[in-house]
Amino acid sequence: MKNKIYGNKFALDTFEAMFKSGRLPHSFLIYGEKGLGKKALAEYLSAALLCEKGTGIPCGECRSCRNAEKGVHPDIIYPEHSGKLNTYTVETCRNVCADAFIAPNNGSAKVYVFTDADNIQLPAQNSLLKIVEEPPDFVYFIFTASSKDVFLPTIISRVTSVGVSPCTFDECAQALGIKGYESSRISEAMENFGGNIGMCVEYLENESLRVITSLTKRAADSIISRDEYSLLTVMSSAELKDRHMSAVFLEMLDRIIRDCTALKFNKSASLISCYPKGAEKLADSISVKSAEKIHNLLNTAAADVRANVNSILLMSALCGEIINS
Ligand SMILES: [Zn+2]
Repeated sequence: MKNKIYGNKFALDTFEAMFKSGRLPHSFLIYGEKGLGKKALAEYLSAALLCEKGTGIPCGECRSCRNAEKGVHPDIIYPEHSGKLNTYTVETCRNVCADAFIAPNNGSAKVYVFTDADNIQLPAQNSLLKIVEEPPDFVYFIFTASSKDVFLPTIISRVTSVGVSPCTFDECAQALGIKGYESSRISEAMENFGGNIGMCVEYLENESLRVITSLTKRAADSIISRDEYSLLTVMSSAELKDRHMSAVFLEMLDRIIRDCTALKFNKSASLISCYPKGAEKLADSISVKSAEKIHNLLNTAAADVRANVNSILLMSALCGEIINS
């Protein structure tokens, strides 16, 4: 395979078991955090569904697998995202519904892959309900999204959901080594993002993510010292004007709060944030109740940022609320 799958053994085992049982669902949702390999799994599963050997594992050798690997398989279809919000519109989904009744070009099946479906419109979801429930025999759907919550319960009840998970540290280090990064930089990336290969790569490649990481740590320090002015300085940084980056910042800060809460209950809890030392100090300086309030504030803010609320106004309001929690 072009993209070797690291980790995600549970997802791969689930797919294989479904193939073997002969009760293969027609609609899948692969969900979980950014960077954990949802797209690679979707590519793997589409290749598996179309592989001429039909074992549930893409053989990599048949014509279908070779086309899938090159990204030119005519029966693996990626409907287009639209607009700034990277959404799928009703029109796009209606076209998919019509197209789904046309027989496959080459293989025995057709696979529609809706990647990053986080902003899929509700009417668009409604328009897919019927086809997702009773697709033609040769049609499969794969959706990927950061969370199940973006879908209507009526969609969720019709798809088989499979979660992605971070790799072990060894798997992550190995994958990053194969990509050619130096071991000192690999350690630095993994200190911040653990076994999330995608985020580690983004950290290594993307200067602004390195800035966001350092801003997150500074924000935690400001909360520890209850310094509203310094928190405001951090949160009005130019880098946080970008919606994606401000969502990442809020999620990373929330992980520090999560670690702080975990430490309150268990001093040797395993920590997941980019700033374990900060989480320890925070655990000494705020109550469980405050941590819970801050967690809720950050969660709501992250959802608002993703829904395109003005992040500058949101951040300045958030500062005061966090300090007063
Ligand atoms: Zn094959």
